[in-house]
Amino acid sequence: MARYVFITGGVVSSLGKGLASAALGALLQARGFSVRLRKLDPYLNVDPGTMSPFEHGEVFVTDDGAETDLDLGHYERFTGVSARKTDSVSSGRIYSNVLEKERRGAYLGKTIQVIPHVTNEIKDFIAVGDDEVDFMLCEIGGTVGDIEGLPFFEAIRQFAQERPRGQCIFMHLTLLPYLAASGELKTKPTQHSVKELRSIGLQPDVLVCRSEHPIPDKERAKIALFCNVRPDAVIPAYDLKSIYEAPLAYHRVGLDQAVLDAFGISPAPKPDMTRWEDVMDRLTHAEGEVRVAIVGKYVQLEDAYKSIAEALTHGGMANRVKVRAEWIDAEIFEREDPGPHLEPFHAILVPGGFGERGTEGKIRAAQYAREKGIPYLGICLGMQMAVIEAARNLAGVGDAGSEEFDHEAGAKRFTPVVYHLKEWVQGNHRVERKVTDDKGGTMRLGAYSAVLREGSKVAEVYGATEIEERHRHRYEVDIRYREQLESCGLEFTGMSPDGRLPEIVEVKDHPWFIGVQFHPELKSKPFAPHPLFAGFVKAAKDQSRLV
Ligand code: GLN
Repeated sequence: MARYVFITGGVVSSLGKGLASAALGALLQARGFSVRLRKLDPYLNVDPGTMSPFEHGEVFVTDDGAETDLDLGHYERFTGVSARKTDSVSSGRIYSNVLEKERRGAYLGKTIQVIPHVTNEIKDFIAVGDDEVDFMLCEIGGTVGDIEGLPFFEAIRQFAQERPRGQCIFMHLTLLPYLAASGELKTKPTQHSVKELRSIGLQPDVLVCRSEHPIPDKERAKIALFCNVRPDAVIPAYDLKSIYEAPLAYHRVGLDQAVLDAFGISPAPKPDMTRWEDVMDRLTHAEGEVRVAIVGKYVQLEDAYKSIAEALTHGGMANRVKVRAEWIDAEIFEREDPGPHLEPFHAILVPGGFGERGTEGKIRAAQYAREKGIPYLGICLGMQMAVIEAARNLAGVGDAGSEEFDHEAGAKRFTPVVYHLKEWVQGNHRVERKVTDDKGGTMRLGAYSAVLREGSKVAEVYGATEIEERHRHRYEVDIRYREQLESCGLEFTGMSPDGRLPEIVEVKDHPWFIGVQFHPELKSKPFAPHPLFAGFVKAAKDQSRLV
């Protein structure tokens, strides 16, 4: 049976609960324990798949094809444990399950209520895979006091009550605001937040206090006294230069020790921090810098491409260089020559995306990279754009385009070199889709394998010819253009195992030009940089030496 840490937040949102949870996961691993992290989100969307990246940041896809919150990305990057469908749930999903059961008659005609039906559904979710790990870390999204969050708080209260004593603890994150006028850190919001928690039956065991200023011992003691927490379980959390400092920083201030103490685990196994010491060494001892242009659509919100930004950092760590990624709005290249904009960069990345807006600009960025011999990494839509570019400018298919854009516009304007995929094979079963299907959860999602051509650049980059990567898309490069494109120098070097779906293209006689139909950024870790990102940054580094 696992031990449970429930992580909640108070005072304000965006305190870094996800990061604190992920860092705690890494610290428990460093002490030899196995962990799994889980996110419970109070919003009513069934999953974040259909939420705009502007609203919610990136959609993180798991191997088993769930579209989840970007916090699961942090969890994976810090623990290396692959998240599953059952590690992310929203109120929307919980209610939809409950209502579906009600329609099926599963409640035998009973009146359906938040307590116990909704809370039972949440508790069942929390306990999935209970016997697989030493610790289950469950983060509750939002802030204590939110209306939507109440069923979750009630469910974790019941859950802890039903388990043997000492099996569950509560960790609460708050903020200590600093009043410049009086030069003081204020503890009152934290006191109120804990009061709010206690009024619904939850007593925190560990308090993590975000603060921009050092927390004096006197204030720590005061928080402990007023919040009914042990003084050494009041953990300061200061701002960090890099998120990857979090495990070492939280360890220094005793977070893992406080958690183990709260469980009564004594003596605590000694931690092995070498993984994180190496990560920090690589991060802080970079030799030189490379500049990478990311030509995309959601450039205003960095969280929209969170995993790409992180994977580039990891690629830099692999090569001991700092990666300066700059976001360029693709639409600019529809009005202006990309040359002057892109010239200062050592490499160009075109990320995934949906919809036609900005795509002509991305095509021009791909053309620039191909013609000038600049390292290019095209991810999902970025690969599709590279293929369309080659079809138009090398293979003479002047009106090459994607069916996605014709569907969106409701008009037939392009020769579909990229088409809507309606039938494919997953493992050993067939999946079918219609153009008119719902938008939620109907893409080619999750892990699929690909077979790489022996001797290709990409096989060299991976050091393997069989790979498995995560997908999230509806459209696919049409294999019927393969011969035509290959004869012009765009090679299809990665294919689905049945040979029907192009997974990877690369430009022959180019220093480094690779397009992939999947999302390699989702699998990159600071302690295990993804080979494509390590290779891409290496190519950028070589390019930086040339100019
Ligand atoms: N819009 C494209 C598709 O659905 C690409 C998706 C993506 O980049 N993730 O195929």
